[in-house]
Amino acid sequence: MSKYLGPKCKLCRREGEKLMLKGERCSTAKCAIVKRNYPPGVHGPKGRARQSGYNLQLREKQKAKKIYNLLEKQFELSFQRAKRQKGDVGENLLKILETRLDNVIYRLCLAKSRAQARTLTNHGHFTINGKKVNIPSYTVKTGDVIKIKSASRNNKQFANLADRLKKMEIPGWLNFDPKDMSAKVLHEPLKESLEMKINTQMVVEFYSR
Ligand code: SF4
Repeated sequence: MSKYLGPKCKLCRREGEKLMLKGERCSTAKCAIVKRNYPPGVHGPKGRARQSGYNLQLREKQKAKKIYNLLEKQFELSFQRAKRQKGDVGENLLKILETRLDNVIYRLCLAKSRAQARTLTNHGHFTINGKKVNIPSYTVKTGDVIKIKSASRNNKQFANLADRLKKMEIPGWLNFDPKDMSAKVLHEPLKESLEMKINTQMVVEFYSR
């Protein structure tokens, strides 16, 4: 599966806000949004042009796609899936994105960013209900038990996990047991625990043009 390999900070600068794509660096003064909060390009800090309705919708869709580290096709497929489900399409979309295995690994603080979570998943470090799963788009369900594989527990990526867990908050729909290095999906994500940075109404309007 292909992935975006360009500079991540440029993506944040294009959207004019922190999308938290680089883990710990995002919370420091080195963050490009702190240092250069203007769009990337040769024109420098000229500010942002006024945006039309279409542009606002497009930017919101791009932002959601970047936050979840997806390519256009992957994001659109998630949207089409959300549309086929009953209920609010925007909320369905966020639930689909939140329950992707790579996002769950990130939410459990087992990775510093969603990009790292995807790599760890691809490398087969996790099992779900006892079976190895290395598909980042795998949708977790209520009752699923996600474990770090015993052979991977000494991997340096999982060092200092206890310290990391103290600093970060795991959403209430997931429960992590540090002794067992395993997590359980308690229920599907609630509206309050979804990514609040995204205006899903605009994303829906973008795809409804
Ligand atoms: Fe975005 Fe993080 Fe780079 Fe800041 S450091 S611009 S939040 S990716």
